[in-house]
Amino acid sequence: MSGRIPTLPDLGDVRGKRVLVRTDFNVPMDGGAITDDFRIRAALPTIQWLLERGASVVTASHLGRPKGTPEPKYSMEPVRVRLAELAPGVELLENLRFDPGEEANDPAFVARLVDGIDAYVDDAFGACHRAHASIVGPPKTLPSAMGLLLQREVEVLMSLRESPRHPFVAVLGGSKISDKLGVVEALMQVVDSLVVGGAMCFTFLAAKGYGIGDSLFEPDQVDTCRRLLADAASAGKAIYLPEDIVGVDARGAVATFGRSLPAGAKGFDIGPGSAAAFSDVIMDARTVFWNGPMGMFEDPRFEAGTRTVAQAMADTKAFTVVGGGDSAAALAQFRLDDEVDHVSTGGGASLELLELGDLPGLEALRKAPNA
Ligand code: ADP
Ligand code: MG
Repeated sequence: MSGRIPTLPDLGDVRGKRVLVRTDFNVPMDGGAITDDFRIRAALPTIQWLLERGASVVTASHLGRPKGTPEPKYSMEPVRVRLAELAPGVELLENLRFDPGEEANDPAFVARLVDGIDAYVDDAFGACHRAHASIVGPPKTLPSAMGLLLQREVEVLMSLRESPRHPFVAVLGGSKISDKLGVVEALMQVVDSLVVGGAMCFTFLAAKGYGIGDSLFEPDQVDTCRRLLADAASAGKAIYLPEDIVGVDARGAVATFGRSLPAGAKGFDIGPGSAAAFSDVIMDARTVFWNGPMGMFEDPRFEAGTRTVAQAMADTKAFTVVGGGDSAAALAQFRLDDEVDHVSTGGGASLELLELGDLPGLEALRKAPNA
């Protein structure tokens, strides 16, 4: 990343100005009701900063995945109601993705968005890896800045890339290695060791010749994992894999296995020995980045490994950062989300920033007229 990204003070005097704030109000909904307003509350510091300085604030966000046309179930109305309670007088535009111009980055849609607007603030980290109209369009013409949420995300994640305290450990899990290959390769450059759980551990175990039964794995990634293991070994970095596995046997009964699974068995969690070993690595680290649950934690029979690792994240003195939607959900499920240093609000965006060191949204801000 090169060049400075303007921050709120770089907007100059905002008194009497209309400021468009791109927020991430993509809140979880159930039957038309918001189940968690965390993302709305998270936007308040930036909104308050602007209001206190006399600006009028217009917020805009996407919600869900409407396909470029209005769909009542993705209406922003429930968010508007909650926002009015938390920050009276703040406007909220309708779901940006109701217009096909948002995802297509259509200049005509950008022109409508910035009509009557004097300045732009991007506080939607979770959307910054997309070159959508509301992210990359307004900074082309308006004085622009990153909001306080986005600023913190960038500072934390870039510090992992550029100046982590060592030992730096990355704990990776989740379903697919192929999804995360880019970030695994980038992390390998900066970490001292890698801890691998989740379904992705089976592709590594298969690469080492262990039996994995019928566990989820990616046959086309076995060679890649073999190469990652060899690269790590020659760089003197450890890749920790589970030494025991919890899952179901061929008859479907829950069982604990060693590193090799018998035919017909399926692994759904790391075993207690592995969870303890992974915790020790986390406790001894000075920086830990965690992405991806250690097992199928949504099922209480297979949550123990993820819970133990989450507890170690809470207990270690290391600087702890968690990225990824499901990992953040797991932390929240265990009520440990306040016990780590930073939970990223952007799943894909956090991985992409770690991998590439830049995002389309940040690049756009760096080129703003006031930058
Ligand atoms: P994140 O959103 O944190 O990046 P992912 O989306 O990559 O995480 O992966 C999360 C999913 O991986 C969860 O739904 C979890 O159930 C699943 N998962 C983890 N371990 C296993 C496993 N051993 N077998 C099947 N699914 C798994
Ligand atoms: Mg996920």
